[in-house]
Amino acid sequence: MQVSIVIPLLNEEESIKELYHWLVEVLQASGLSYEIIFIDDGSTDGSWEVIFALSESDTAVKALRFNRNYGKSQALHAGFLEARGDVVITMDADLQDSPDEIPELYDLVAGQGYDLVSGWKKKRYDSILAKNLPSKLFNAVARKTSGLKLHDFNCGLKAYRKAVVKNIDVYGDMHRYIPLLAKNAGFYNITEKTVQHQARKYGQTKFGADRFIKGFLDLLTIWFVTHFAKRPMHLFGTLGAIMFFIGFLLTVWLGVDKLFITPAGRLITERPQFYLALISMVIGVQLFIAGFLGEMILRSRKASPRYLISERLGLDTPVS
Ligand code: UDP
Ligand code: MG
Repeated sequence: MQVSIVIPLLNEEESIKELYHWLVEVLQASGLSYEIIFIDDGSTDGSWEVIFALSESDTAVKALRFNRNYGKSQALHAGFLEARGDVVITMDADLQDSPDEIPELYDLVAGQGYDLVSGWKKKRYDSILAKNLPSKLFNAVARKTSGLKLHDFNCGLKAYRKAVVKNIDVYGDMHRYIPLLAKNAGFYNITEKTVQHQARKYGQTKFGADRFIKGFLDLLTIWFVTHFAKRPMHLFGTLGAIMFFIGFLLTVWLGVDKLFITPAGRLITERPQFYLALISMVIGVQLFIAGFLGEMILRSRKASPRYLISERLGLDTPVS
């Protein structure tokens, strides 16, 4: 199997068939061996019926169905577990991403040895205010935090070496930062390719304004997770110890001063240093405890499934 096409979707019944025929046309012309994996992220329209009918007539079509909507990241996660191709290509189901890009994307990974190729919608066909401007801002921030020089982190059209998708953990709304996840997992050979972008033909966008807040929080999480998740004590313990130590020094100094240097001076409780010392020590202890609890939780945590798959078509068990 040379290439797996992974397509997460939510309520895209009008687009699926058209997308499928376009995909097959391109893939057959390219001569690549392929599979097409649809992940139905809890659609409530006729999407699953359309996918079911396709899988009946074509064994290359495989599919998972979530029992409810979990989000694009979870859908990608499930698709990545199933993918068998040497190169895995993700794309949106709404016909905004063009299958015509697939042969070149495949070649960049399989031929030129890139770990990840991210699509860049250089010319975008979305509304300026709701999408284009915010997305410029988002990408600028993401570039700064990640150190990756990509223009379009969130493009649905991406190609990966198989090892990448098997070794990154996409959850929450992390699909926006997959290049960063890949980099953190040690896949540094990342590039981008300008891709064609179409206006949405049917239905409407599934992401509202709340994606900015979620996106920002997820960025914080990634920063935190990559630096401290495995050792919370390194962050909280250090901060806590420093604060406690400052408070402790202030306290000693206040005591020594009162007892031996200026016993006739102001009451200790009238001095600002007293309150600084108090706050420092209390917060210091709390931070330390937070770190300690973090370590305890890590040790007791067991991995639990984050979504429920209700139906499978052509897929038995996840491959690693
Ligand atoms: N999608 C999904 N689960 C969700 C939201 C979206 O699988 O909870 C799919 C959606 O069907 C589409 C892709 O993710 O295939 C991108 O979504 P959309 O086109 O709404 O995003 P936009 O292009 O507007 O950023
Ligand atoms: Mg779209």
